[in-house]
Amino acid sequence: MTTAPLDLPYLRAYAPALQAQAHALLAQGQLGALLQRKYPEGHAVRSDKALYDYAQEFKARHLRNAGTVNKVLFDSKIHVVRHALGLHTHRTRVQGGRLAARHEIRVAALFKQTPDEFLRMIVVHELAHLREKDHGKAFYQLCTHMEPQYHQFEFDLRLYLTHLDAGGELLW
Ligand SMILES: [Zn+2]
Repeated sequence: MTTAPLDLPYLRAYAPALQAQAHALLAQGQLGALLQRKYPEGHAVRSDKALYDYAQEFKARHLRNAGTVNKVLFDSKIHVVRHALGLHTHRTRVQGGRLAARHEIRVAALFKQTPDEFLRMIVVHELAHLREKDHGKAFYQLCTHMEPQYHQFEFDLRLYLTHLDAGGELLW
């Protein structure tokens, strides 16, 4: 008996049954169509300025007292593998005799062309790091507080990355 190798790097953290399902959809060439049906439209956040405003709006709604985010930008140098979909950096430096913290959020450039749901998921993820450094229980609770469908959107995003990885076209 021969079995097709079932290794979908973006889905390794999920249950084998889910991975097998994704594999079957991919093999049938159905994965892209399924995602497009579920998410018919791409978002309109095109520039770093628009992304900054987008992130600030979420922050104002959910994390008002979590410090200042100085910069939010799309970064074409982020190589999207497994957990590295975005980056959150916190630098402290001496400024005028005091310690000043700078928070920067970088989102992989791939998110310029996705549905709003995927962008929302990554922005929520990076904002949650303002409060929780590690990917622990409290971190994901904060994510799902900001976006109740956080886990579903992350899974669907990973399906999209799997689709692209297999040579599929950009969908949005
Ligand atoms: Zn993270």
